[in-house]
Amino acid sequence: MIEPQEALQIVLEKSPQLEAVEVPLPEADGAVLAEPVVSDSDLPPFDKSAMDGYAVRSADLARLPADLAVVESLPAGTAPTRPIQGGTCAKIMTGAPVPEGADTVVRVEHTEPAGAGRVPCSERHSLLQGVRILRSDLPRRNICVRGEDVRKGETVLEAGRVLRPPEVGLLASVGRERVRIVRRPTVAVLATGDELVSVSTVPGPGQIRDTNSWSLLACCRRAGVEAESLGVARDTLDHLRDRIARGIERDVLLVSGGVSVGEWDLVPKVLRDLGVAIHFATVRMKPGKPTLFATHGRGLVFGLPGNPVSTIVGFHLFVLPALRRMMGWVDPAPPTVAATLAVGTEVRGNRTTFVPAVLRREGETWVAEVVETRGSADLVGFSRADALLALEPGTHPAGTRVKAYPLGV
Ligand code: AMP
Ligand code: MG
Repeated sequence: MIEPQEALQIVLEKSPQLEAVEVPLPEADGAVLAEPVVSDSDLPPFDKSAMDGYAVRSADLARLPADLAVVESLPAGTAPTRPIQGGTCAKIMTGAPVPEGADTVVRVEHTEPAGAGRVPCSERHSLLQGVRILRSDLPRRNICVRGEDVRKGETVLEAGRVLRPPEVGLLASVGRERVRIVRRPTVAVLATGDELVSVSTVPGPGQIRDTNSWSLLACCRRAGVEAESLGVARDTLDHLRDRIARGIERDVLLVSGGVSVGEWDLVPKVLRDLGVAIHFATVRMKPGKPTLFATHGRGLVFGLPGNPVSTIVGFHLFVLPALRRMMGWVDPAPPTVAATLAVGTEVRGNRTTFVPAVLRREGETWVAEVVETRGSADLVGFSRADALLALEPGTHPAGTRVKAYPLGV
């Protein structure tokens, strides 16, 4: 039996980072970038108004209010045709290029319409619509200057970055329709157990519905990985061998059930028969003592205990980090936060116990409220939790600082 930390270390050591592949932009979200990305242009590509208002020369605003003639109107997407000269301005919308000659955009709230007759300009301008500037904004204040975010040729994203929506947007803004990422692993999910029936079946005597295939598929999807279900294997050597042999063709096989020491827990034997190397099969933790980890070439196999809560806990603590390591995450260990116990609790036995809890914020600290459940089969209770607390055996009074693993991250 090994400690959970040691188990995680073994898992991470044996999880290979996968090769780089090129994917279209929509598939990049959640993946790790496998190449540095440079900008193909200055961003912004031109001096751009950050406000709806009027592009003016600040020299014209020495005395306020100031009446100016509006020489043109510039919605976003248009190019200015007329430079701004003394006494004139252009109406400008957010995102439009600032015309030559203008050094300031006065926001529309600081102006009011002025009649053409009041415009003290040349004959030609006096025919134009006028505007009265009531307040000045600082020169350049409302202008995003060409190249101020990034210069053409500059690196905008380094290899190794996890791509999230802002990075995906950034890739689009520098013209990357395709991008090299670390390949995501292919995953197969196999439930085992003669008692299991499908979701659409009303369980007969002694039967229960297969829960774990669905929760594991959902866990994988949240991890950014598409998993394939291999259905339910019966507790026979032949059936298990057939399904597991298919499963180990994938980068990762997740088996639920059949890994403890019961007479029908045949998964370890089948794995050995198929030449899969088992690295550990019991971990000093609760739930999840019978958690198995094995490798087959570069492929990984996890045997998670069948109780629905244990399966999800095992996924979170061991499978998710493995998937992230394969996908190129620099720091794939499950994130933890320090929390304070709201109510004292006692942990019996001799194993690190992962206790379902709800985290809430109190000022600067996270406070953890233990969620009472009826054990590792109780998905009803567990579904109310949003974190796991790692507690050693013993008494933990209210106020104790504990390590919490937020779930769903
Ligand atoms: P096992 O790990 O196979 O000994 O199973 C432990 C417990 O989990 C038993 O009560 C099983 O019926 C239950 N179990 C195993 N697999 C599943 C599954 N896929 N969905 C729901 N419960 C399961
Ligand atoms: Mg079983």
